[in-house]
Amino acid sequence: MPSKIFALEGQRVWVAGHRGMAGSAFVRRLAQENCQVLTVPREIVDLRNQSQVDAWLAEMKPDVVLMAAGKVGGIVANNTLRAEFMYDNLAMTSNVIHGAYEHGVKKLIYLGSTCIYPRLAPQPMPEDCLLSGALEPTNEPYAIAKIAGIKMVEAYRTQYGCDFVSLMPTNLYGPGDNYHPAHAHVFAALLKRFHDATIDAAEEVVVWGTGTPRREFLHVDDLADACLFVLEHYSGPQYFNVGTGSDLSIAELAALIAEVTGYKGRIRFDHSKPDGTPRKLVDVTRLRALGWTHRVDLKDGVELAYRSFTQTSAAARNDRAR
Ligand code: GDP
Repeated sequence: MPSKIFALEGQRVWVAGHRGMAGSAFVRRLAQENCQVLTVPREIVDLRNQSQVDAWLAEMKPDVVLMAAGKVGGIVANNTLRAEFMYDNLAMTSNVIHGAYEHGVKKLIYLGSTCIYPRLAPQPMPEDCLLSGALEPTNEPYAIAKIAGIKMVEAYRTQYGCDFVSLMPTNLYGPGDNYHPAHAHVFAALLKRFHDATIDAAEEVVVWGTGTPRREFLHVDDLADACLFVLEHYSGPQYFNVGTGSDLSIAELAALIAEVTGYKGRIRFDHSKPDGTPRKLVDVTRLRALGWTHRVDLKDGVELAYRSFTQTSAAARNDRAR
């Protein structure tokens, strides 16, 4: 384990995007640290609005910024809300990064995504394959906005000496996920669909695409842990993939989720829906060399995520009943 070069203790840490899955995991993880967590709802500060972001930074003076805000969604949301994915992400990213520079933030972690890598990148995908080929068309606007963020982080370090670092998390899952039937990512969409099918004793569950694309999944609590690890142990121009280093096919994921939710019926693959990138597995060598490895394996993670999903749905039902 390398020694710490930055201590969180006593720091004022702004989690931008604290209501999202990654941001809320950061807030949970930071509760174990002796630091002050700052958050602001979007009704008060719209991160797409530069003067609102500026005023918030001037007033709150954070030492650290964890940039987890962004408009995110699954393959269909990405492909249909193309303008929104591009504008919202570009605006939020540039306001938060530029604001952090102007207000003297000591350290910033920016969250990218592994869809920034070329569609046909070598697998597992090393950090250095960025901008070496064409992107997956279904999420190109989102990827371009994320690449702009990584390049801003790089440029602000080179020109202004800002201690900003980017992380590229692989597909995330866990508490606080979005379970919208059309807009969710595959993990959450299938967790909810298989859960509903089990409750309704349905005979068939539909899974989009051919089932052959391969994806890697990381529990969001592992991402929060990796983020604090990098914050405290690294200062430099590199960016880091964050993943588990292993993947599985969508058909295998569906079978695993069926098992955990207790679903016994048929699974049908809907070939009219897009498959997206054939494979997305990150090379985690760089972050492992720094000293960080994930803790939650996928089988345990599906069980944890399912428990949190059923608790949240039960709480929502109780709230409605009140
Ligand atoms: P991606 O990893 O950026 O391609 O985004 P997703 O998480 O949305 O999709 C991953 C893969 O899961 C694609 O091959 C989808 O076709 C497949 N998939 C299967 N069923 C679903 C579903 O119900 N929702 C989503 N979003 N994807 C699904």
